[in-house]
Amino acid sequence: MTLLMDEIALATARLAEAGVPSPRTDAEEIAAFVHGVRRGQLHTVKDGEFDALFWEGVARREAREPLQHITGRAYFRYLSLDVGPGVFVPRPETEVVAGWAIDRLREMDVASPLVVDLGTGSGAIALSIAQEVALAQVHAVEVDPVAYGWAKRNIVEHGQGRVSLHPEDLADCLPELNGRVDLVVSNPPYIPPGAVPRDPEVRDYDPSRALYGSGKDGLDEVRAVERTARRLLRPGGLVAVEHSDQQGSDVYLVFSEERGWRDTRDHEDLTGRDRFVTARFGQE
Ligand code: GLN
Repeated sequence: MTLLMDEIALATARLAEAGVPSPRTDAEEIAAFVHGVRRGQLHTVKDGEFDALFWEGVARREAREPLQHITGRAYFRYLSLDVGPGVFVPRPETEVVAGWAIDRLREMDVASPLVVDLGTGSGAIALSIAQEVALAQVHAVEVDPVAYGWAKRNIVEHGQGRVSLHPEDLADCLPELNGRVDLVVSNPPYIPPGAVPRDPEVRDYDPSRALYGSGKDGLDEVRAVERTARRLLRPGGLVAVEHSDQQGSDVYLVFSEERGWRDTRDHEDLTGRDRFVTARFGQE
């Protein structure tokens, strides 16, 4: 056993003690980050290098700072995104929402589909669509100035010139696209104001603006997404909105027939929890 492996074992024990859910992986990820290698290459690292940096990272993780803030990277579908303080760390459950949008866009008989991502945060959904749907034109909307800065960086790196970023509120954004958009997607804030997330990584580090929805039920932003989608979509256009596992039936009712929606459906994420609602607007 090499010295680095001993240090990783020690760090794993410390992280486990601090309640970190995947202590071994996180210790290895911090070591890999500090040494500038992949996790699978850690055996090639010379012992004793960058010790102080490694233990500094471990201490931050022990204090339950998200791993993604320590390494500065978050993985989302086929992307490696820049993240840090002030931007929501993209989640695996949202990969399923993006995946649904990507599958529908690929089936669409539209040469260059027009897509809007409301509240893009790091840019995760918008950039995945641009990467995985040939010729998609994506408009990402982000009103928070700090999140906007992170999205900008990621769009410059991964946007292929097909993602534009707009510092606008999701309620009244992009009037120039009214009635023309093929698909609207959003992971808005939706945690009801009284509910406090259990994980310190979320509670203490994700921007509260990205977490907590307005209104008693936390669904004011979802209702704003519905109104904006109704304004932006062409007849037959699609919407997908993320929500918590407690909100499926409420969000389902927001996308009602009276408002012009049809084929409204609730979907689960990979862990079998209710996660997002989709619907089609009007008649083709
Ligand atoms: N999914 C978030 C969480 O895991 C909640 C807010 C959001 O995604 N919009 O805490």
